[in-house]
Amino acid sequence: MKRSLLTLLLAVQLIVFTGCGAAGQDNNPLENGLSAQGNKVSGQETDTDGPRLQDDYYEFINKDLLDQIELSAADAHWDWFGELDIAASNEMDDIIRGLSRDRTAFEAGSSEQKIRDLYECVSDTENRNETGLGPLKPHIDRIRNAQSIAEYVDALVSLSGEYGFSSIIGGYSIMQDKADSDQYAVYMLYADTLIGKEYMEGEGTQAYVSLYQDYIENMFLEFGLGESEARRSADSVMRLLRDICASTLTIEQSYDPSLTYNVYTAGELQELYSNVDVDKMLRGLRIDGRDSYIVIDVEQAKTVNSLLTEENLEALKAYSTFVLLNDAAEYGSAAMARLYKGMENALYGITQEWDDETIWLRLTQELLPWDFGMIYVEEHFSKEDKENVEEIIALILDEYESIIMKQDWMSGATKQKAVRKLETMNVKIGYPDEWPEEKDMMQVTPVFEGGSLMSNFMRSMNVGVEHGLRLLGGRADKEKWDIPPQTVNALYDPLNNEIIFPAAILQAPFYDRENSRGANMGGIGFVIAHEVSHAFDLNGSLYDEYGNYNNWWTDEERAEYQRLSQTIIDYYNQYEMMGVPVNGELTLSENIADLGAAACISSILGDDTDALDDAFSQMAYNWAAEDTADFMLYSLRTDTHAPNKIRVNAVLSSCDAFYEAYDIEETDAMYTAPEERVGIWR
Ligand SMILES: [Zn+2]
Repeated sequence: MKRSLLTLLLAVQLIVFTGCGAAGQDNNPLENGLSAQGNKVSGQETDTDGPRLQDDYYEFINKDLLDQIELSAADAHWDWFGELDIAASNEMDDIIRGLSRDRTAFEAGSSEQKIRDLYECVSDTENRNETGLGPLKPHIDRIRNAQSIAEYVDALVSLSGEYGFSSIIGGYSIMQDKADSDQYAVYMLYADTLIGKEYMEGEGTQAYVSLYQDYIENMFLEFGLGESEARRSADSVMRLLRDICASTLTIEQSYDPSLTYNVYTAGELQELYSNVDVDKMLRGLRIDGRDSYIVIDVEQAKTVNSLLTEENLEALKAYSTFVLLNDAAEYGSAAMARLYKGMENALYGITQEWDDETIWLRLTQELLPWDFGMIYVEEHFSKEDKENVEEIIALILDEYESIIMKQDWMSGATKQKAVRKLETMNVKIGYPDEWPEEKDMMQVTPVFEGGSLMSNFMRSMNVGVEHGLRLLGGRADKEKWDIPPQTVNALYDPLNNEIIFPAAILQAPFYDRENSRGANMGGIGFVIAHEVSHAFDLNGSLYDEYGNYNNWWTDEERAEYQRLSQTIIDYYNQYEMMGVPVNGELTLSENIADLGAAACISSILGDDTDALDDAFSQMAYNWAAEDTADFMLYSLRTDTHAPNKIRVNAVLSSCDAFYEAYDIEETDAMYTAPEERVGIWR
């Protein structure tokens, strides 16, 4: 439920939110084939049992598949991304199990040693219960014993400076500077909004908010507070949370660098945080003496400053305590971990808990992403596939160049800059040439040497801090990878002007060297073209070819871009799921990317209707999904992607080639009149 820092701060565009749940163990669609071919009926035929493709293309392609998918009670969501993710995790599970039986004395610091010893810490419930909050406890005590705002902030700074935890103030992150992406900058973090602004202020969300308040209270009880103090503390947290959320950016605003890139000197920061000794704070965080600091959410920072008064001290201490308990709960005692999972399950509509072993195996993988990544690519990456995918990427980049050149609302000079951005786009496929230094910085202390899950988790947090500080002052390494190769996803990073395809996405159903040209174009081709489009979506178009936030458009072009964007917003606002309208503004950038991708791949396939049929059906098939009602509502409120069914039907209804591939009549539900079709890059 926490927003991913990576997503928010770097504004990278993951193609899909793969959700939290695992697919049911009993039904394995992988065994039923990975291509749309089996399901496909030629466009001219009609299937009397199911929907016609002319009325609901998504259902037409996916009906048989989705009939076989039954979400287990432990799952919130099913889709192919999640399915492949589970397949990868299951393989890693076998490696963990094998190592945990192996009594070899592995070399200290080797991946084998780290994995085996971490799993022992994770699965040793007795050790976890005895350790409790472990090394985090003295920090929480210091916060709770603070007698003044100054002491409270000192305690937060000490914790953030060593481990990177942030609750209200004192959190920071070191990332590439948006205005000069060769350098790193210090971004001052916003306060943690917990269940989030969208829920706190949403319609139809107050039942979840009240569950969240119970969760806070139960966490305080587990921490050891008495009943009345736990209730009072939970009330205080909710009061501050409402104030903080009221001045927090919305999710769509948080992607807009004109709102989130606010350059402050230390002196200006002192004015913003007038209730804090900013010099002392920056020294404590080891980030003093810099020319500038980036404030991500200025209005929220003003509210936080206004809350930092002595009469709020107890409420602030409660807030920070809860944020830390929530952040650490998964790694703490069995009771705390259960509370945490219970809240997540309620939010996503999961009615059955995962078994302990599954949770342990996944936690082990999450804490050692690069060690597992190295093991993963040994088995799962072929040079031949890489070369094939590189060919598809080259075709797509070429096609985008043609699409840009035919836009009559763009000047010649702007087109040249856009083409330059395509020509210099960096492509990362598979896995990094050099593994990130965090991999070796992360060490695992075994139980027999006094280690615990909590102490090793704290170590991983400390690695994040120390690694960030090492980067500061040096030149940005643009070859560095931020996501491990076993990630089933893809992304565009505007600060590096790069597209990234980890090894795990280069497999069926997204890519299969046995597939037809059309099917691979609708599979990995659509994914690639979607990511390339992000270079020119609402956010990406604000960055130049060097990855710098820098306007390269004329005012007239920008106005036309906004006008086209508004037509896309209005178009998506007409769609709904479960009676809830899609949020056209929240999903705008992703929709621009989807619409551009469909136009790009269909243009490459030209008038080859068989290939178009293969491409569209594979694309629709790859987006098949099942969700619990709660998870669908959660996604509609917070996901920057439209629901998968809409991603297919809305995009194809606006794609001219779709009408060439199939006979679509004006009376069909998929029909949109040519003048009402939307898209920017087509
Ligand atoms: Zn995307």
